[in-house]
Amino acid sequence: MSTPETQSKPKAARRKLVKEAVSMPKQKPDVRAHNFDEVALGYSEEQAVAEANRCLQCPKPQCVPGCPVEIQIPQFIKLIQERKFEEAINKVKEKNSLPAVCGRVCPQEEQCQMNCVVGKAGDPISIGRLERFVSDYELAKGVDAPPLPLSTDKKIAVIGAGPAGLTCAADLAKLGHAVTLLEALHIGGGVLMYGIPEFRLPKHIVQAEIDYVEKLGVKLQTDALIGRLFTIAELFEKGYDAVFVGSGAGLPQFMGVPGENLGGIYSANEFLIRVNLMKSYLFPEYNTPIRVGKHVAVIGGGNVAMDSARCALRLGAEEVCIVYRRSREELPARKEEVENAEEEGIICKFLANPTRFTGDEKGWVKAMECICMELGPPDESRRRRPIPMKGSEFIMDVDTVIVAIGRTPNPIIQRTTNGLETTKWGTIVVNGETGRTSLEGVYAGGDIVTGEATVISAMGAGKRAARSIHEYLTEKQKA
Ligand code: FAD
Repeated sequence: MSTPETQSKPKAARRKLVKEAVSMPKQKPDVRAHNFDEVALGYSEEQAVAEANRCLQCPKPQCVPGCPVEIQIPQFIKLIQERKFEEAINKVKEKNSLPAVCGRVCPQEEQCQMNCVVGKAGDPISIGRLERFVSDYELAKGVDAPPLPLSTDKKIAVIGAGPAGLTCAADLAKLGHAVTLLEALHIGGGVLMYGIPEFRLPKHIVQAEIDYVEKLGVKLQTDALIGRLFTIAELFEKGYDAVFVGSGAGLPQFMGVPGENLGGIYSANEFLIRVNLMKSYLFPEYNTPIRVGKHVAVIGGGNVAMDSARCALRLGAEEVCIVYRRSREELPARKEEVENAEEEGIICKFLANPTRFTGDEKGWVKAMECICMELGPPDESRRRRPIPMKGSEFIMDVDTVIVAIGRTPNPIIQRTTNGLETTKWGTIVVNGETGRTSLEGVYAGGDIVTGEATVISAMGAGKRAARSIHEYLTEKQKA
């Protein structure tokens, strides 16, 4: 005789909670500290399936609202559980045109993974690592573009080929629009190419994702500095129906302390551009030398500081010290990358800030005076304000300093576009939902709107703007 229990619809078998994530194989710290090869080596098929099997497939997944580009996370993970890797990457790519990049550098711990239900009892599901796995699986097999819709005959100019511009361009192309991506540099990718080092994000991975965006029909025009080559008004005169500005925040900030112009003191921008884009780490094979001394100080505590420090170490520095004015708790860099940096031997000196630099008779930096800081109440950034402690000055012997204290928006477009509303920080003012600026037909997103943020937030902004541009052009056609 059947009981009410056995009569009810059978439930899917419950997965057993596995608290520990499958760890990601990495190069050993003492080995990787001397090469520019990728640190994290990626999951094997077996590891990826084991990690995917930890996912509980929640009926109301909390991870999806944490993803700015709205990837259907449980679905792609389920496909990995079923070993349908090709279908899994196709599911990811419905929403994300740069998955191999995001799988490597997105701060998942503060987004999708932060909300993961499994994370309440143990490690959250390693969504980023799984995204990387399926992307690399596809890259190894060769990437095809999906079938594209009929052309709408609408022309859109996208300024800047960083994550915001690439995403906006890809989404518009998928909707049938003719998109030209106008990039100031000789190469696309923005910070992904010129900022983030090879050992965290190999250039061939970024290039493969740019190639995919081009396969969608996007025309990439490099060496096109908008504001100089053409203004936005001239782009409309040339027949574009809408413009998206994704020109980023690439201007370095300095501290404004005495001696900052001495030789051997770099902005992180200059240092990383030389190392990454001009390949000075391969000197003399590539002809851009870079001077890195024995005792290097890096000022700042973000991803840019960590990347600069780890590059300096790989370029032969004996000691690299990160000097940060707040404490470990406030460090803005990704936790995983701080751990990697410390494993490699990077020293972190907290609660200290440079006050002046002194040089030798030839004008090269030889010492840095710092002052100790204590933390007061939170400031406008909601982090505790660092306050100098009178009389606590100390000297550090340094022969190279890299300043990584932040970057501000690139200003050319704002200066050459009449009527474009900007803030006092030089960022472009937009409607947060649509990315629409004060000018009709002109949209913006990414670091040029928010100030320096993250790859995925720039991509989310590019996606929202693409949707709005499509709606704008559709409405205009009807009118
Ligand atoms: P960008 O990536 O800056 O791209 C803007 C593009 O516009 C550039 O290619 C630029 O050349 C072009 N451009 C500028 N002006 C013009 C013009 N007038 N005409 C034509 N083209 C123009 N984020 C993370 O999420 N995770 C990380 O681990 C991480 N690490 C980082 C490490 C470093 C060293 C740096 C510098 C940043 C890092 N970030 C990280 C931040 C992240 O890279 C940025 O938030 C993101 O790249 C912003 O994207 P974007 O498209 O708005 O701008």
